Amino acid sequence: MTAPTPVSGPAAPALLELTAVSKKYGDVAALGGADLVVRRGELLAIVGPSGSGKSTMLNIMGTLDRPTSGRVRIAGYDVARLSDRELSALRAGTIGFVFQQFHLAPGVPALDSVADGLLYSGRTRGERRLLAERALRRVGLGHRLRHEPHQLSGGEKQRVAIARAVLGDPPLLLADEPTGALDSRSGTVVLELLHELHESGTAVVIITHDRDITASLPREVRVKDGRIEYDSAAPGSLSPALQEAVR
Ligand code: ADP
Ligand code: MG
Repeated sequence: MTAPTPVSGPAAPALLELTAVSKKYGDVAALGGADLVVRRGELLAIVGPSGSGKSTMLNIMGTLDRPTSGRVRIAGYDVARLSDRELSALRAGTIGFVFQQFHLAPGVPALDSVADGLLYSGRTRGERRLLAERALRRVGLGHRLRHEPHQLSGGEKQRVAIARAVLGDPPLLLADEPTGALDSRSGTVVLELLHELHESGTAVVIITHDRDITASLPREVRVKDGRIEYDSAAPGSLSPALQEAVR
């Protein structure tokens, strides 16, 4: 008898794999040979100084950008082998994105901002709005459906953006400094929401500068000068402090 495949944990299937991924912008090496595996249902922080390559890595993980060399696999697919159309479909069904700036169109009510995420899903307008309302309730904004961005606080705007990102229930959520533009209280609410999404089964990758956020997450990946210098999930990895101590 074969053991059932675990849904999360170290033996869960890989959802995303970067193998020797590099990215150059002209002669700037933004990323130099990154290897990273994200498994189904994981929650991890990617940390590092400004300019170290975190956003470059996240954009490549999310297939928004292509690497100069190396391989990206999402849900088992080598993304370099997919047509633009196949890649868009894979991305739409697999990955949600959240950014520091909320990217909500001015003058558009929350319900429509979220529902528009399903414009090309083949669903009717009524279905799109029903799903959007459900997603907004899920992030605690059931009472803000008709509010436009200028009527919402920063934390509420980010929750609208998260509702839009998780509307189709993607197995992977990529968040690039999601609390970077928020005061600490709103940041805490957004972080709690990301934890809840993880608890409901979504793999969540959070880029952050915040030591407290990093400390609250089960896995930490440190990026410096375009390289992964530490990954707490790597086999036999020691924390930088321990590495120092045993030298
Ligand atoms: P981080 O998110 O860690 O602050 P980035 O991934 O944004 O870092 O940037 C890594 C390096 O790549 C930086 O030196 C940055 O200036 C450069 N870079 C990022 N995006 C571009 C781009 N589109 N064109 C040119 N250089 C870029
Ligand atoms: Mg960045």
